[in-house]
This record gives sequence, structure tokens and C-alpha cells, in this order.
Amino acid sequence: MSEEPKLCSIVPLMQAAEFASLRGHPSAIGAFNVNFYAQAQGILEGLYKAEAPGIIQASRGANKFQGGADKIQVMVLKAIKDMKITLPLALHLDHGDTKSAKDCVDNGFSSVMIDASKLDEIQNIEVTKEIVDYAHPKGVSVEGEYGKLAGVEEDVAYGKTTYADPRFVPVFFDRSKVDALAVAYGTSHGPNKGKTDALNVGIVTDSYAGIKANHQNLDHFLVGHGSSTVPRELVQEINQYGGSLKGTSGIPDYMIKAAIKEGIRKVNIDTDLRLGITATLRKYLNDHPDVDKKSEILSVIKKVFTGETPAKDKDGNPVDSGSLVDPRSYLEPVVKMDPQLLRENYRSFKDEAFIEVMTLVKNRIAEHVKSLAIMFGSAGLL
Ligand SMILES: [Zn+2]
Repeated sequence: MSEEPKLCSIVPLMQAAEFASLRGHPSAIGAFNVNFYAQAQGILEGLYKAEAPGIIQASRGANKFQGGADKIQVMVLKAIKDMKITLPLALHLDHGDTKSAKDCVDNGFSSVMIDASKLDEIQNIEVTKEIVDYAHPKGVSVEGEYGKLAGVEEDVAYGKTTYADPRFVPVFFDRSKVDALAVAYGTSHGPNKGKTDALNVGIVTDSYAGIKANHQNLDHFLVGHGSSTVPRELVQEINQYGGSLKGTSGIPDYMIKAAIKEGIRKVNIDTDLRLGITATLRKYLNDHPDVDKKSEILSVIKKVFTGETPAKDKDGNPVDSGSLVDPRSYLEPVVKMDPQLLRENYRSFKDEAFIEVMTLVKNRIAEHVKSLAIMFGSAGLL
């Protein structure tokens, strides 16, 4: 198997979901965020078990964490190759800006997002179109964002939602030629999604009706961001083993299904995977109090969880170690130790405990991704 795995754009994947939906089987493609090798493997295994096509996506922060978009691309291809996966897969940039989107197009990503949602509608279209013109000739698909999602994502933080105007959605597609559009309808980024009364699925219904009326629905698709379910058991497990997460809440399954039924064709999941990774690591470190003696790698992670090494957020500001959910914040010392440790197959390192915990992380993610693919109606969609 020396052949390089092939990635596809997100268009044929979402097209398959649209065709299935038109046939009465509402469906959306799961887009799962990745930061390190075992996480990529877990996503791939979950998709494989569900026989679902999928999107692996990396944010600018993930690319930075691994030392560049090229490093993430090589890591994901390696995971696909190691697992001999032949599913239709895309590698997508999540929440890019102009610079990072072009960088990812040049570095083998098969899809990019340009998030110009902080600009007014006309400027947003202009900036999005610039990336479309850059990406499309290379066969790379583009996702834009319209409206503002509450919560923190990369360097953008909004206190509350600015909803997309459904009447303008077909116009946005027509003028920008973008393939997919994240429409703000009340979901939010992060593990504290608040009450569901901010959700307005009617925005999806009306946007999709407009796209269909304009015969755009076979090559223009709606995306739902901030759609993690934030399972209570995961939060409880994190808190049982030293975490102190408060006020967490996600999007209930039935609301995600309703949004898919109304026209969402790509669903983004990041927070749920972060919670699964955090819970697995916290439980393992708790169950193996002597781990410091066995594994240098795990001992540096443990120090962040216990507060011995001061925990920092992505901007370097100090945070309470109990509130950590972003794996990049507690895995940073591992990258500093050796950037290969989280980029290469963990089985290649002579550290039994590290291999054991990374295998558990992989399994936990695979389980969750599989159940989400089933919920999204993309299982068996090949
Ligand atoms: Zn997002």
C-alpha cells in the first residue's frame, strides 16, 4: 500500500446527503475536528464502523498546534493509510481567514472555510468570493459563514447570535459561488450552549426553501456549526476525576435531527470530542496514580491537570486547571517535548502507558463518532 490516499472536496459528500434527503432519508455529513494522531484515528474508525463518509477538519489553532497545515495534512493522510481506510473523506479547514485558507489550499487540504462573518454582508461575499476564485480551479471546495454564532471560536468571540436572514442566503450563494454556507440559527460554539430557546430552526427551513426555489440545492449546502450534544455522562466523568466544569449544555439530539430534516447537510462536532479526550485522560491518570514513574509523556500532562504546571488558554492567559476541555491546552507540554509525539502513530513510541491511553482515546472517539454518524443519517451513505 504505497498509494497515497485521495481526499475529495466536501461537495460530493454533501450531494450524497442531499440526494438521500430528497429520497426521504434526511441526512448530513459529520465534520469532526482533529488536533492529534489518535483523534484522527478515532474519527476514522468511527466513520468506518458506521460506513459513513465524513469530513475531518482542522482549525487554524490545530494547524498551529501541529506546526503548520502541511503537518496536519501529512498526519491525517498517514492515519488514513495506517488504517487502510477507503471511505470518501475530505480534509477541511475550519474557520479560516484569507491567509490560512490560501495556505491550506496550497498544502493539500481538499476543502477550506473562510469565515468573514464579522464583516457586513457585501464585504463578506467579496472576501468569500476571493477564496472561491483561489480554491475552485484547484478542485478545492469552500464554505463561508453568514450571521454570527455566539461563543468562542479561534480569535472570534461573540456574546450573542446574529441570525442569518434566509431571504439573503440564495443571494449569498449566487454572488460568492461558495459551495457551503454556515448559517447562524442559534447554535453556539463551546460546551456552554445555554438554553435551547435561542435556536430558530425556521431559519434553516426558510434558507433551504429559498435554495431549492432557485435550483441551487444540488451544489449549494447549509452547514450547522456549534452542534455538539455535550453528553452529561462525559461532563460527570470529567468532574468525577478532578474537573470542575459548570453550566455545560449542548444541542439535544432531536434538535440536530430537526435541523437536518429542514436542510442542514454538514454538522460540525468539536466540543464533544474534546470532552471525550479530557474524560479519558482524567480517568486514566486517576486510575494509575503511579503513572509519573512509568511515562514521562503522561507525567507532563498530569502536571497540567493537577495545577502543578499552570494551565493556560490558547492565548496564554492563566485558567483554572479544572475547567480545561481543550486538549491543546494540556497537550502543549507534550508537543514541546517532541512535536512528533502527537503527530506520528503513538504505537511507534516506546511508552506503554502512552500507547494505552491513546488507544483508549481513539476508542472513545470512535464510539462517539459512530453514534453521531448514525444520528446524522450518514451511516451507510456510500
Ligand atoms: Zn464553527
